[in-house]
Amino acid sequence: MRFDGVIIVDWSAAARPTTGKDSIWIGQAGAGAQAPVNAPTRHAAMEVLCHRIEAAQASGQRLLIGADFPFAYPQGFAKALTGRHGALSIWEWLAEEVADAPDNANNRFDLANRINASLPGVGPFWGRPPHLDLPHLPAKGSARHRMPFAERRAVEAAERGTQPVWKLYTTGSVGSQALLGIARFDKLKSDLGAACAIWPLEPHDKAEVVLAEVWPSLLTKEIAAVEAQYPCKDAAQVDILARAFAGLPPKKLTAMLSPDAPREILAEEGWILGAGAVQDLRSGLGNTLPELTPPRLRNDCFAMPQGVNWVPVDEALAKLDAALIPLTTTETLPVAKAGGRILAEDVIARRSNPPRPNSAVDGYGFARDALQGDGPYTLPLAKGRAAAGQPFEGVVPPGQAIRILTGAILPDGVDTVVLEEDCATDGARVAFDGPIKARINTRKAGEDVAEGELALAKGRRLTPPDLALLAALGVGSASVYRPLRVGILSTGDEIIARAGDPALPHQIHDANRPMLLELARQWGFTPVDLGHVKDDPKKIRARLDKGAQDADVILTSGGASAGDEDHVSRLLRSEATLSSWRIAMKPGRPLAFALWKGVPVLGLPGNPVAAFVCALVFGRPALTKMAGGPFAAPQGFTVPAAFAKRKKAGRREYLRARLNGDGHAEVFRSEGSGRISGLSWAEGLVELPGGAADIEPGTLVRFIPYGSFGL
Ligand code: AMP
Ligand code: MG
Repeated sequence: MRFDGVIIVDWSAAARPTTGKDSIWIGQAGAGAQAPVNAPTRHAAMEVLCHRIEAAQASGQRLLIGADFPFAYPQGFAKALTGRHGALSIWEWLAEEVADAPDNANNRFDLANRINASLPGVGPFWGRPPHLDLPHLPAKGSARHRMPFAERRAVEAAERGTQPVWKLYTTGSVGSQALLGIARFDKLKSDLGAACAIWPLEPHDKAEVVLAEVWPSLLTKEIAAVEAQYPCKDAAQVDILARAFAGLPPKKLTAMLSPDAPREILAEEGWILGAGAVQDLRSGLGNTLPELTPPRLRNDCFAMPQGVNWVPVDEALAKLDAALIPLTTTETLPVAKAGGRILAEDVIARRSNPPRPNSAVDGYGFARDALQGDGPYTLPLAKGRAAAGQPFEGVVPPGQAIRILTGAILPDGVDTVVLEEDCATDGARVAFDGPIKARINTRKAGEDVAEGELALAKGRRLTPPDLALLAALGVGSASVYRPLRVGILSTGDEIIARAGDPALPHQIHDANRPMLLELARQWGFTPVDLGHVKDDPKKIRARLDKGAQDADVILTSGGASAGDEDHVSRLLRSEATLSSWRIAMKPGRPLAFALWKGVPVLGLPGNPVAAFVCALVFGRPALTKMAGGPFAAPQGFTVPAAFAKRKKAGRREYLRARLNGDGHAEVFRSEGSGRISGLSWAEGLVELPGGAADIEPGTLVRFIPYGSFGL
């Protein structure tokens, strides 16, 4: 059995977009080999897979795709769940029932709760965040009983150390990964039709794409030996595993694909590719391991496939997203100092908010159950009171009430509070009208966030409310990325570096550099002023060298297209790996990407209008991802146009725009690319899609305020 290329996916059940460690990584070896890429969501991961499968199919190559989640369950589960035998029936069932949004929001716990409810006994699924109230999904595995299924599959008896498929939460959460992974892979299988086979659940000899379950721990030692050379362990895993399978002689791979287990077991419970054959798998790696030193970004990571001429904006963005990884190191900061920083790790609530049940109002508290009849009620007042910070230590007897203030912990014997405005009191008794609902005017412990729950996910840039949240949840410090250092360099013989300096008629002042430095600052990065250089290769070279030392990434403006004087392009082409992207967008067109001494260089157009728009559309998500955050799209709003415009098909257009008094988008009087005043006049951009459009006043258009670009 031969495969041309091997792709390995390290899967994740994250509920939000996540990058870095414990998120989805995709490695590829053999044909189409490339350094591991990170996908922030399952949706994005499937897009990467689809692209790579398409590329392989276009060149007639066979692909083995391994993923590290269980493809099947212990015997009997398929029949119990779907009425049919065979793990593939579970695949179809899950593809129908799992909801998994492009932003990773999903229904796995609810679904497991439903499955459990439909089966005898308690279980088999278990494990959930403490705040979720799902009656059929026990929080602990030990709470399960009368389970009709085995805890482990046959292959897991052979390979110890795997996590059971029933466990949905905390370490491994393999069960969650399986639910979400199987649903996604079943869709992929349907899309590919006969070209795709799931090993070992169906015959795979003729398939162009074979999907198989893999388990990185088979190569734990080999992975540990090289882990430091990768952005994180998951990246190392997918690369090493892909190399191991790709390096196997066909005979050994064929043997691995025919494990020594009864057919019925394989069809019901699946198998882990390579289980029981670790020595063989190791041999696939050969002796090449120690020299493996992948660069932080691959040299050709920005290369567009051959023949690509005009790149649509979204494709260019997806390509950038796939190419980039976080480039800065992390540090731990006290919460009060962490504002504006990007979280390097998930933050878990250390205590619940509120920590104990408390009163939401000033009033009188009592036990609702002890009230007789429908009211009005008169209750004797217990001595003392409960206030915020001054808890009442005693017990309030049934049938009595106690004075209670906002924020006070509910004393024992109190579960309900009436508002003081609804009460009459003489100091010894309190009277109020009915009916009274149990627990009104009280807050449950943990009703906001419960201890142990995810408070904020890594990749989030901490806002002022985030700091309030972390403090309230007992979190004292957080692991954050150091700010990305963004070098800004202007080029051009005609440019006068400093604003206000005298200029000859053929000279212009550097407008881009102050703008780009300030953009970087407002985005939370550390701007590094690399100044201006003339169009002289020697000088540009020296300045790029300095930039590579002082910054994590360099933005240049000017000299980025292919003209005679475009020395930046020429230099990067001859001394680094330059990729010029012709983006199908207006304004903007040429964008250049390169690595100079390992430091990414993003070459923006010289024209200030184009430089600004490209910085917002491409620079911001790219820099944010390199800074440890998500590669996020700006939030746009659909509003009626206050203008008319006829647009040809071909390029996406960004118009300088703002909202008029009616909330309609008006655009700047001129689309001239030299009109910097229009950028300043505007309060956002109107984005017109690539197709032809005939816009009349009132036509709905997408308006993206500057605020959505983080300004
Ligand atoms: P280039 O990409 O170098 O061909 O420049 C395109 C246009 O942008 C030319 O008109 C340049 O003069 C202008 N330009 C380039 N850099 C700057 C800058 N830093 N500030 C203002 N205009 C610039
Ligand atoms: Mg120039």
